[in-house]
Amino acid sequence: MNRREVIKMLGLSGAFMATRKLSLASVASKDNPIVLSTWYGQGSVANSKAWETLEQKGAAVDAVEQGVMISENDWGNCCVGLGGNPDRDGKVTLDSCIMNHKSECGSVAFLERIKNPIQVARAVMEKTPHVLMVGTGAQQFALEHGFKLEEDKLSNHAQEAYTNWLKKSEYKPIMNIEKGGVIHQPMVPKKLENGKWNHDTIGMIAMDAQGNLSGACTTSGMGFKMRGRVGDSPIIGAGLYVDNEVGAATATGQGEEVIRVSGSFLVVEFMRQGYSPEMACRKAVERIIKKTPNNINEMQVGFLALNKKGEYGGYALNKGFDFAVKSNRLDNKKVDAKHIK
Ligand code: ASP
Repeated sequence: MNRREVIKMLGLSGAFMATRKLSLASVASKDNPIVLSTWYGQGSVANSKAWETLEQKGAAVDAVEQGVMISENDWGNCCVGLGGNPDRDGKVTLDSCIMNHKSECGSVAFLERIKNPIQVARAVMEKTPHVLMVGTGAQQFALEHGFKLEEDKLSNHAQEAYTNWLKKSEYKPIMNIEKGGVIHQPMVPKKLENGKWNHDTIGMIAMDAQGNLSGACTTSGMGFKMRGRVGDSPIIGAGLYVDNEVGAATATGQGEEVIRVSGSFLVVEFMRQGYSPEMACRKAVERIIKKTPNNINEMQVGFLALNKKGEYGGYALNKGFDFAVKSNRLDNKKVDAKHIK
């Protein structure tokens, strides 16, 4: 190995050093427990639930499961849980995954009529030799494990959105923007200025008092998607990834672009190379731009990351992605993620 290769391997490039400085400057000390969630409006409420577990020195995996269930149970949420927007056939299909500090993981996709897919994902993780279960098989598994089959109906806001959508039946995902920095309330589904509904996900990552990392990610996916479409959210490495030696990351936004670059895994790998969480997220967004340069103005992708030191950060493709951070020092701090475009 020559000198240049050694330097590269050790990550001692100028960019690396600059990034390290940035990261050390932004967080003075280890701050755990800590929990972060995508989208401040729903994320702050979910963080507060997760905090109940974390402050009792509970495990991060329990905290994230409890936290994201708040969004799944929110019938007014446009984009998480059974109250979310349906696919183009009028059916709500849910995608969800969970990963713990031992790299154990479970996930469900294209799951219908089950209220808490994150709990089913956890059951897949703990009670099966598998990682991912989908569709009717996942539903059958859920029912066998005591989950209830919910009524096949849409929430009022989803019905309204679907009826509107049917007028044109146009499959066009709408970029997710928190309008002018206004915080959307968890019980109020988001509507864009053009009257269309947007999409999002709750991705939550946490470090507990023992220093262990876990994450959860759950969504009803892109509204009016093709039947059978699965996004990034239940894909380990795309919507969520945890490596307890390094850090955790989660994603929201246009799932296809996140899958294409194994987004959350990529963020964790950049942190492994020494990049700060924020810089690791930025580099993953840059990768998306490199691979999909054409329609980046018309879509949103946001990443969120946490490293082993309790340092956190996020980055988005376009303006409008925010997230919530809760720790002993930060009481659901709202962070407007930097963005490239
Ligand atoms: N990532 C989700 C999906 O593609 C949607 C979102 O987060 O906005 O299904």
